[in-house]
Amino acid sequence: MRRPFIAGNWKMNLRRQSAVDLAAAVAAASGEFGEVDVAVCPPSTYLASVADAVSGSPVAVGAQNMYHETDGAFTGELSAAMLLDVGCRCVVLGHSERRHVLGESNQEVNAKVLAALTAGLTPIVCVGETLAQREAEQTTDVVAEQFYGSLAGVNADQAVATVIAYEPVWAIGTGKVASPDQAEAVHSDLRKILQNQYNAEVADQIRIQYGGSVKPANARDLLSQPNIDGALVGGASLEPDSFLGIIQAA
Ligand code: PEP
Repeated sequence: MRRPFIAGNWKMNLRRQSAVDLAAAVAAASGEFGEVDVAVCPPSTYLASVADAVSGSPVAVGAQNMYHETDGAFTGELSAAMLLDVGCRCVVLGHSERRHVLGESNQEVNAKVLAALTAGLTPIVCVGETLAQREAEQTTDVVAEQFYGSLAGVNADQAVATVIAYEPVWAIGTGKVASPDQAEAVHSDLRKILQNQYNAEVADQIRIQYGGSVKPANARDLLSQPNIDGALVGGASLEPDSFLGIIQAA
């Protein structure tokens, strides 16, 4: 049985105090989480403050990106060890905004995934098609290509420590959520890909989150699908009530 995992991606929002207040509000409600794992992913500058705010609670802190090297002359970058050092336990990798706005390739995502796993950080690896790709019926191929490219060289033990997030690009920040059937169809394809790549036992353990305009009102229907094991939440994770409502639905 996979434990549901709800992660909030705060993107480039909030300021130190509002980030700390939001994290503290989520942590204060953690007695109600039941069997749900929860993480918040603030901007890098606030990781340490947010880690302090949730310390002693089950809320995990995640970063939104990292670099694959361990140390050295890489101006502006942060390594997995640095993220661990300030209290991170997970890291979002290959988010569509990084792939499409910042031009990140599968190869770059793959290097980061391997570096995160080697360091002991849980990667949340995002895959998802654009609207044009969906309309051209390329969803399965695009998602498979991103999956194989981003997880190349990840062994079975590492795979069970990895989280996949299916995030259709057309549903991110647009208010256009995938229907439970649309999302489940891709999650089920991803589960089959995991079975082929590893085996049924490994595939059964790997959590696949859905992301794209998840709100308290649509979370229950999405999360009740057999292959949807949680959510990566953007906009609705910026308010305690809506984020906690999604956790409640899980
Ligand atoms: C995201 O940023 O990963 C995301 C899913 O955003 P939103 O929930 O705002 O669509």
